[in-house]
Amino acid sequence: MALILNGKEVADTLKQKITQEVSEMVANGHRAPHLVAILVGNDGGSQTYVAAKEKACHEVGFSGSVIRYESTLTEEELLEKIAEINQNPEIDGLIVQLPLPKHINETKITQAILPEKDVDGFHDVNMGQLAKGNDGIVSATPLGITMILAHYGIETSGKHAVIIGRSNIVGRPISILLSNPGKTGNATVTVCHSRTENLSFYTKQADIIVAAIGKPGFVTGDMVKEGAVVIDVGTTRVDDASKKAGWRLCGDVDFESVEKVASAITPVPGGVGPMTITALLNNTLKARKAQL
Ligand code: NAP
Repeated sequence: MALILNGKEVADTLKQKITQEVSEMVANGHRAPHLVAILVGNDGGSQTYVAAKEKACHEVGFSGSVIRYESTLTEEELLEKIAEINQNPEIDGLIVQLPLPKHINETKITQAILPEKDVDGFHDVNMGQLAKGNDGIVSATPLGITMILAHYGIETSGKHAVIIGRSNIVGRPISILLSNPGKTGNATVTVCHSRTENLSFYTKQADIIVAAIGKPGFVTGDMVKEGAVVIDVGTTRVDDASKKAGWRLCGDVDFESVEKVASAITPVPGGVGPMTITALLNNTLKARKAQL
């Protein structure tokens, strides 16, 4: 039976630390960090994520606000709003919830956010800093994964990590983080993707597997080496009539078969998800502290 890596518990512990730091900041006469989220349109998932981020801000003593727009908002209008927030010294972090309506170019929007306020870590400058191993703002989900590994004292140095997925928001940055020097780094990393032939050949050699694919139950027990650590990033909504919402969140890992061979595993929900929000808070605090 694998150790369950409880992201919710780790997130709560880290949030307490952030709350403490914020109260000290305020006691010293400084303004609390302020995170702004922009939400365009009525996508159900996006509304849930943004509401969770706003709630988390308030829990740790940040100012958190959401700017909501109809899906008819033009790209130019959105760029104008971003430019205004970039200039606002009272705002430390800005996230634009993705996906955006088709007529808005996501890359253009991501690049318009000032790198210092880009607490999602999607800007080329922050990605570049990460690639060079410099201090910058690291994309929230990969950062959250390293926070879980650190919390449970999981050794990464010298280990073979196999990442399934090469997206710019999860697969690619976590592969860089794990291979960079430093704590929760120094791993030997293999990046797999949809063109990888004989995927199991790689996953069966892995000491650490990070699955970021978006295909429910994709990684099964027979693909995993005895004692491996398995991090499940996937969050796909699958129909489930037994649930009030009519759906449930499903990870990329077949929990039942994998937990029998793994030494540790993140559940879905309650694994990587809560850590992503905590990492976002961490990045916003970092952005605020950079101004002091
Ligand atoms: P994405 O941009 O769609 O990337 C998926 C990756 O999986 C791609 O690199 C793709 O390869 C690879 N892939 C697809 N089919 C494959 C296959 N059969 N074998 C091997 N690789 C395959 O997705 P993403 O944004 O990284 O997100 C991945 C999952 O994580 C989604 O379920 C998403 O909802 C979830 N997620 C969760 C959080 C959280 O906070 N928990 C945050 C972000 C994302 P190619 O590049 O070759 O197409």
